Parts: sequence; structure tokens; C-alpha cells
Amino acid sequence: MTGEPVETRLIRAPRGAMDLAGLRLAADALVAGKLVAFPTETVYGLGANALDEEAVLSIYKVKGRPGDNPLIVHLAHTGLIPTVVADIPPMAVLLIERFMPGPLTLVMRRGPSIASAVSAGLDTVAVRCPSHPVAQAFLSMAGVPVAAPSANLSGRPSPTYARHVMEDMGGKIPFVIDGGACEVGLESTVLDVTGDVPVLLRPGAVTADQIREACGVTPRRSSGTAQGPVRSPGMKYRHYAPRATVLVGVGRSLAARARHTAELVQEEVAAGHRVGVFAAARAILLIREMQKAAPDGEWPVRLISYGELDDSVQASVRLFDAFHPLDASGVDRIVVQSLPEKGLGVAYMNRVHKASAHKTGE
Ligand code: AMP
Ligand code: MG
Repeated sequence: MTGEPVETRLIRAPRGAMDLAGLRLAADALVAGKLVAFPTETVYGLGANALDEEAVLSIYKVKGRPGDNPLIVHLAHTGLIPTVVADIPPMAVLLIERFMPGPLTLVMRRGPSIASAVSAGLDTVAVRCPSHPVAQAFLSMAGVPVAAPSANLSGRPSPTYARHVMEDMGGKIPFVIDGGACEVGLESTVLDVTGDVPVLLRPGAVTADQIREACGVTPRRSSGTAQGPVRSPGMKYRHYAPRATVLVGVGRSLAARARHTAELVQEEVAAGHRVGVFAAARAILLIREMQKAAPDGEWPVRLISYGELDDSVQASVRLFDAFHPLDASGVDRIVVQSLPEKGLGVAYMNRVHKASAHKTGE
């Protein structure tokens, strides 16, 4: 199904006014083995019938995803979790009650029903129940578990609008369901609950502190690519990356982070680069001042602000959406202002580090 181009049909599903006939068509196509992109509260997913091995394999082909990077199974509601896992550990019961439906994915021992390609050879399966009403409607109509990674080409930023999905998937899959902007904008928290201590495989909107409060155990951070078996294969790949090189403005205070962001912009412009910026308003003001002081001529800088202060909610919602127009405008550097690594800032900085491949510009 990857070879010949297909016509991609956009199904409009704004909240409260879903095209139910369109959703039905898309759900039937998914059950029959086709791929359908759909909105969730985190990012858009590229769904396949998780009971259909061929359909699941086509996700890897269309995305260009390495075959050893497993997929998350999406369910319409938490009552369906026992149908896809071998058992639900007591700790998971507490987490399901507290955070599902929502942006938390739990890795548990897999049941026999799921196609083996979903788990990429592991004996576990990652499960999530999205809270997005369109995702829930679509998943209930489909009536099957849906394997879905983010609906981008492998290695590229995750889509947070249907138009981002069309950029990567247009002409390759038959349906994209447009549910508007994603509320969180970063991928789900992934937590392995197969052992005594939960392991945080990917930070997201459900934070380590919230997990500790809910189940009384502090999750361990996965070492990712360090020695030992890779617990979440997705972590060893460069991710979330725009085409431009990403540099990070760092510092101990908001003022220092803004200053370093502006300094990086100045250095990159002086080196002859076209520069995009994603930063708080304070850094944007500093950069505008530089622009005024610059000699006449083109100032090749595009600015996108994420708000006034260290606002991790706004910065997270807008991060991937900022990468798209900056990349499209042809900049060769994107300077991103960092945030303190607490609360949602942990997940934001995880994505920024992956996009920048750990370059801090210092
Ligand atoms: P994506 O859906 O593209 O955001 O990627 C899903 C993430 O969940 C990747 O980081 C995967 O490696 C991780 N994941 C999925 N299934 C498993 C599993 N069974 N065990 C560990 N990690 C998983
Ligand atoms: Mg992804």
C-alpha cells in the first residue's frame, strides 16, 4: 500500500460538530486494514487495526520507522485494557484510575490478541486511552484496538495540527481526521509498570511527581541509550527534529536564558545564517533591539514567541507547531529558549534536546 499514491480524504471533526458519516468511513477502512490519522490530546496518531499484522507492518513502511521501535495501542476506554494485556499490576490499577483516559501510556505484559509487529518483538505492549472526544468516537466506531505512533515521517516533529499530518502523509494514506489543535502538543508519558518500580521511558504531561503521588512509588528515569538493554527502543533514535540545526539558549534565570538566546541569534546571523527563534517574549524583545541596532540590510531572523514567562504549558503546545513554519521559511538554524526542568518543563526539554541532538550552542 506504500508504493502507489492514494488520494487522502480529510474528514472534518471539530469538537461538537463531528462528520459522523466521515468518521464511519474512516473507521471501516481502518478495520479493513487501511491507515487512518486521527487527533488525540497529545499529538496526531497514525492508526492501524492492531489485530491485523499486515496493517501494522504498513505503519512502519509509510513512516519509514525502524522495525524495532514498538507502537502504542489505543483503546476507546479503560474497560478494554484487559483485552490486550496479560495482567494488570496493582500499581497500574491506581495509575489507570487516576490518569486514564489521558496522556499516560502504560507498558504491561502483552496478551495474545495483538499483532506481534505492534510490540516489535518485545513481550510487552504499550497501552493508552486518549481523552480527546474525536479519538474516543473514532476508536469506539472502529471497535478494535488501534496501534498508532505519531503521524509524522520517522525522525520528524510530531504533528499537532491536521495540516502537519498532510505535509508528511498526504498522498500516502486514505484518511486524515481533522480535530483541530492538540491540547498538550507533546507525546504521552510512557511508563513501564512490569517491575516493582515503575520506569519512566518518556517524560510527558503526566509528570514523575504526579505518578509518585498516585501510586506511592517514585518512578526511575530510564537510562535510554546507556549500557544495558534498551527498555524503550524509541529512545535511541534522534527525534522530533526539524531540518534546520537546533541550538538551545540556556541559563539559570529567565533573564539569563533570554540573554543567551539573543546572543546565539546574534552569533548565527554574524556567521551568515538565516535564523528562526522560538522563545519567551523577553528574548524576542532583546532580538528586536539588536535588529534595530544592526546595519541596514536584510535581518534574516524569524521570531515566534511562546508567551511572557517560563510558561511550560504554552511552550509545549507550540513547540512542534513552531518548527513547521520556521523550517518552511528556509532558515538553517533554529534557536530555542530552554525552560527549567521541572513539571512539564522536563518533557519540553526532553524534546528540545532530542531535536538539537544535545547541542546547546555553548
Ligand atoms: P510514538 O508513538 O511514535 O510516540 O512512539 C511510541 C513510544 O513508545 C516509543 O518511544 C516506543 O519505543 C515506546 N514504546 C511502545 N511500545 C513499547 C513497549 N512495549 N515497551 C517499551 N516502550 C514502548
Ligand atoms: Mg513518534
